Amino acid sequence: MFYGLMSDIQFDIAIIGSGMAGLSAAIYAGRYEMRTVIIGDEPGGATASAWTIENYPGYKEIDGYDLIMKVKDQAESLGAKVLHDKVISVDKTGETFSLGTESGQTVAAKTLLFAHGAARRKLKLPKEDDFALGKGVHYCTTCDGPLYKGKTIGIVGGGDAAIKGANLAVQYAEKIHIIEITNSLKPEPVNMARLQPFINSGKVEVHLETEIVELLGNDRLTGVRTKEGKEFVLDGLFVEIGAVPEMALATKLDVKLDDYGYIAVNNEMETNIPGIYAAGDSTNFFGHFKQDITAAAMGAVAATSAFNYLQKPKD
Ligand SMILES: Cc1cc2nc3c(=O)[nH]c(=O)nc-3n(C[C@H](O)[C@H](O)[C@H](O)COP(=O)(O)OP(=O)(O)OC[C@H]3O[C@@H](n4cnc5c(N)ncnc54)[C@H](O)[C@@H]3O)c2cc1C
Repeated sequence: MFYGLMSDIQFDIAIIGSGMAGLSAAIYAGRYEMRTVIIGDEPGGATASAWTIENYPGYKEIDGYDLIMKVKDQAESLGAKVLHDKVISVDKTGETFSLGTESGQTVAAKTLLFAHGAARRKLKLPKEDDFALGKGVHYCTTCDGPLYKGKTIGIVGGGDAAIKGANLAVQYAEKIHIIEITNSLKPEPVNMARLQPFINSGKVEVHLETEIVELLGNDRLTGVRTKEGKEFVLDGLFVEIGAVPEMALATKLDVKLDDYGYIAVNNEMETNIPGIYAAGDSTNFFGHFKQDITAAAMGAVAATSAFNYLQKPKD
């Protein structure tokens, strides 16, 4: 453990994001006896709100929050300092990275790991941001689905997050409309099989090739209108259409992005800038396959690379 002012300590590694990638990196960094700080604005990242996880080795079934808190405990027990804060600025002077946080702290470190995930993609429709303030528009069915007991909801999207969310929401909602812009759903087969009985019974209706163009309602969402001229009366709308990376901090340090706007890394999770690494959903290392197991693996590799970098004599 490290005590005293953050600004008095030079860490070996500063990790942005306290999700699976960042915390896994911290476990490895701790075992390498690196002085480690993790700054995350959302304890546990996406895993904390993933609800039941059934594909993480060692657990047939575990609540995402419980899983990630075990990882956090493990990281802390190995000496990592976990700060609940948001990094708002980054800089490099000589060989030192300095980070500024929302609460006014400054952190200095010899290496830097971007493990900050990717933000949820929005529909980009008028009123969306207002309705997202607890007025009917949500971006995580597993997190907020239980608010809609006995209600009618829409779920936008046809990937695994949407179908997994629908599988949870059937426990609460009276009726679910899945609204997907393409002509097919593409979840993991096991999740589709779970939902199928509810589609058969009519509790869940699937609307393919359907594009929402307007959010209805004044003070809060009351429904949606589609390009095809359909109108759905809804109590809530869950937007599950993937994520977009937020890369202002990385590009400030001239870190190269790939064609999709994620951080470009090699097999060692190195970026184009010496001493800067990236891991987890902030990269496309495994393409669209973004899971806890891949995030954990990338975090472990990134910490190992940072350790090796610090061992090498500098010119
Ligand atoms: C609903 C849902 C269900 C899922 N179910 C599963 C599942 O069953 N199995 C599975 O393996 N995977 C599942 N996943 C995917 C898995 O959760 C992610 O792949 C994994 O969490 C990625 O970890 P990460 O650490 O890269 O990113 P994240 O978990 O996104 O963590 C990054 C963190 O960094 C924070 N951050 C961003 N910018 C800053 C900043 N400037 N300062 C401080 N902090 C910052 C973010 O807020 C976030 O908390 C699910 C995801 C979702 C959304």
